[in-house]
Amino acid sequence: MARQDLTQIFNDIIERAKSLDPANTRKWFDELEVVHLDGGALLIAADDNNKVQFLQDNCTRTFTLAAQQVTGHLVTVDFRTNGQGRNSLKSDLPTKQRFKLHPDYTFDNFVVGPSNRLAQASCVAVSQSPGDTYNPLFIYGNSGLGKTHLLHAVCHGAREKHNNAVIEFLSCEEFVNRFIRAIEQGNSSGFQNQFRSVDVLVIDDVQFLSDREQSQEEFFHTFNALYNNGKQIILSADNCPSDIPALEERLISRFSWGLVTRIDPPSHDTRVAILKKKAHIRGIEISDDIAEYIARKVRANIRELEGALTSLQALALTKQEDISLELAKAALGDEMLTAAKNTSITDIIEVVTQHYDVRLADLQSKRRSQSITLPRQICMYLARNLTRHSLEEIGGHLGGRDHTTVMHACSKIGKAEHDDPQMHATLSELTRQITQTK
Ligand code: ADP
Ligand code: MG
Repeated sequence: MARQDLTQIFNDIIERAKSLDPANTRKWFDELEVVHLDGGALLIAADDNNKVQFLQDNCTRTFTLAAQQVTGHLVTVDFRTNGQGRNSLKSDLPTKQRFKLHPDYTFDNFVVGPSNRLAQASCVAVSQSPGDTYNPLFIYGNSGLGKTHLLHAVCHGAREKHNNAVIEFLSCEEFVNRFIRAIEQGNSSGFQNQFRSVDVLVIDDVQFLSDREQSQEEFFHTFNALYNNGKQIILSADNCPSDIPALEERLISRFSWGLVTRIDPPSHDTRVAILKKKAHIRGIEISDDIAEYIARKVRANIRELEGALTSLQALALTKQEDISLELAKAALGDEMLTAAKNTSITDIIEVVTQHYDVRLADLQSKRRSQSITLPRQICMYLARNLTRHSLEEIGGHLGGRDHTTVMHACSKIGKAEHDDPQMHATLSELTRQITQTK
């Protein structure tokens, strides 16, 4: 195949993948390179290990489906680094990284506002000179306010600045599980060496230590060993040390030796800025009035803000429209939220199976005849629009189908609703019946 054709096909695949799963689309998809596409295998290169990891974890199915749709053949998809980025790991680098860093969770992508300014500044300081400034650094706040993001950012920053530093990042749950496994295998000294020889130890969600006495004891010794050697310790939790239930006094006091800093819920302006940033990362731009509208609707936590953005993207895709304020209102409007609270997938399935005179077992079966496929896809589409269930959950109710199948159904039925007046009328009638049964 000529290189030019290959590039064109690859671009088509990327565009298709973007429209199949906009929430996992990233602006940097445009920098991906095709290594080869032959013998039914597509190999794609990214410039950085974290990106490869992100693609493997979140995009394999979507890219596979996209490649099959574009080429019309069965294709397997794989990812690797092209070794050009700053963070691509060559095997001879001293910092062999055992953990995954999310490529989105950098300082650049973190919006600073009054609610998180101190936490962000202390994380930057620590990433620049680990062990020298605040030790330990303890960040706490409610769920979804950016603690994990900041901890990843510290690791990204420290790795860039201190190429040789040995960094270990893990959730507290993982720490506890590894500890328990080491004891079971009679290898507690191996466990101790692994953690006590690092330069920077980052542990997320240390409230997990609550009520776990033996793990607290081990953590205490790890902490002391690192601290006494001037190594950096960074911790996060949902509460300040003294408010973590059933945590030993000696740990509470040690956690408070350095800097303890809180993240508060973001202000309106910060929420607006975060939305715009998140949209930008996904390769779309949203206008101020749309960001303002969403930020007023969704106040509680930032994960929900991102969820709102995903709903908006999904609706734009199913309706085949550009993102607009009208669409944002439709995606998050009061009617929608009320419907979402009251409607269950079971209601939808009941109305659709009656209308098409099919059985639930047929919808959940593997049958692919049009008489079954259409009602099944309509169920998926309506569940996506009328409930707040995730794509995975919707697929789960309909015979364990994966999220890309649901995405595909939504975009197909959405297009039909737009193009075919008959389908439009049917969907309106079904929606009326579903919401009226409440
Ligand atoms: P926590 O660990 O506190 O529960 P996370 O770090 O997982 O929260 O954050 C939830 C989501 O919100 C992530 O996608 C993260 O990128 C995003 N987020 C939180 N705070 C910010 C911020 N200030 N700027 C940009 N994104 C943010
Ligand atoms: Mg977290």
